[in-house]
Amino acid sequence: MPSSRTAVIVGAGQAGGRTAAHLRKQGWQDRILLLGEEPDPPYERPPLSKEVLSDDADPLTGRLYPPDWYEENGVELRQSCRVERLDLGDRTLDLATGGRESWDVLVLATGCRARLLDCPGADLPGVMTLRTSADAGALRPHLRSGAQVVLIGGGFIGLELAASATARGCKVTLLEARPQLLERALPDRVAALLADRHRRAGVDLRLGAGLAAFEGEGRVQAVRLGDGSRLPADLVVVGIGAQPNVELAQAAGLACDDGILVDSHCCAGGSVYALGDCSRHRDAWLNGPVRLESWENAELAPQAAAKAILGRPEPYGGVPWFWTDQYDVNLQLLGLKQPVEREVLRGDPESGSFLLFGLAGQRVVTAALVNAGRDRRPVRQIIEGRLAVDPAALADPDRPLKQLAKGA
Ligand code: NAP
Repeated sequence: MPSSRTAVIVGAGQAGGRTAAHLRKQGWQDRILLLGEEPDPPYERPPLSKEVLSDDADPLTGRLYPPDWYEENGVELRQSCRVERLDLGDRTLDLATGGRESWDVLVLATGCRARLLDCPGADLPGVMTLRTSADAGALRPHLRSGAQVVLIGGGFIGLELAASATARGCKVTLLEARPQLLERALPDRVAALLADRHRRAGVDLRLGAGLAAFEGEGRVQAVRLGDGSRLPADLVVVGIGAQPNVELAQAAGLACDDGILVDSHCCAGGSVYALGDCSRHRDAWLNGPVRLESWENAELAPQAAAKAILGRPEPYGGVPWFWTDQYDVNLQLLGLKQPVEREVLRGDPESGSFLLFGLAGQRVVTAALVNAGRDRRPVRQIIEGRLAVDPAALADPDRPLKQLAKGA
């Protein structure tokens, strides 16, 4: 074992940045090299589709650490630094700039990129995606009052952007190919309420909409739909999902299947780890492989990886959690959407605040919390503990969830 080792983290997003911090905090005393392709230091992405666009917040408002942090913590951060090739045999990597680095421990936190559409006109100026702080900075000036904005995809990006663009006075049309918003994540009932909220805000929401092409002379001017109709457009934003950046890992011979495959310690084998959006980990709680594109995964997986690297492995896993803010709606989701035997409603949707539980037998497997974030903790405990609960008690707002979470 050399006296001084090097941990190289490829990818300086939230997951990569947190890995550097956890390694240091948990006792890694040697070199940490954090390589990021983006020109910006590590930041969290949630504000990009929300306050950065709706309120003119700094695109780097979600930065993980102040500028001095890196030197103070002995983390060598290199920005605009693309890794071209990994060699797992001699433990080196090649940089696009021509340099080469050696590593003793390698952590891949390469994230995802926006999926692109393959239709005529998809490369016209004015057809954009939103993934990075640079994307948000480029998009913002186009969200002028009165601008005709067409959003493709009724997922998290499309919906949060619809709310932000509406707040800036844009005329928004949102096209979703499926018959429902966020179909992979939301219960039908919650999706219908969300659709209604968008329509009340003035969004022209078109479900089951087929897209044919983008049209324009030198810049996008219209969107042509499958039925032949045309929508005028000053700006189009495509939010049709994200694709994990696995090419580097794959070329190096690591096993990938819509994500770099890792165990419940985020280990891909030997001294190679992968975490965050780009990885598919064997989740200790879900008891199976899962790729999570979530803020929480980017926070927690680095802790697990750092522990494993430092020889104190603890299996990583838990109830997946997602949230989104749109207008006056804070929506939180616990668990992964799956077929459920029954749904239990707690609270009155008309009041704007309620919970919808999905049950398999007497166990809650999913929950949607609408303006009810205060209940997240007990609900998570109920799901995580796989507690048998009485559906009538769950539906009764006078029965505190904290009590149910204690098994009472
Ligand atoms: P997303 O949440 O996966 O949603 C994409 C939506 O677009 C899906 O409903 C998808 O349907 C639909 N779609 C796919 N192809 C389409 C087409 N040709 N025409 C119309 N609709 C189409 O992905 P996203 O909104 O692009 O977000 C990208 C990433 O950012 C995700 O990882 C997301 O989790 C993350 N993000 C998260 C948040 C949050 O958690 N609050 C906020 C912003 C971004 P199918 O399901 O059929 O593909």
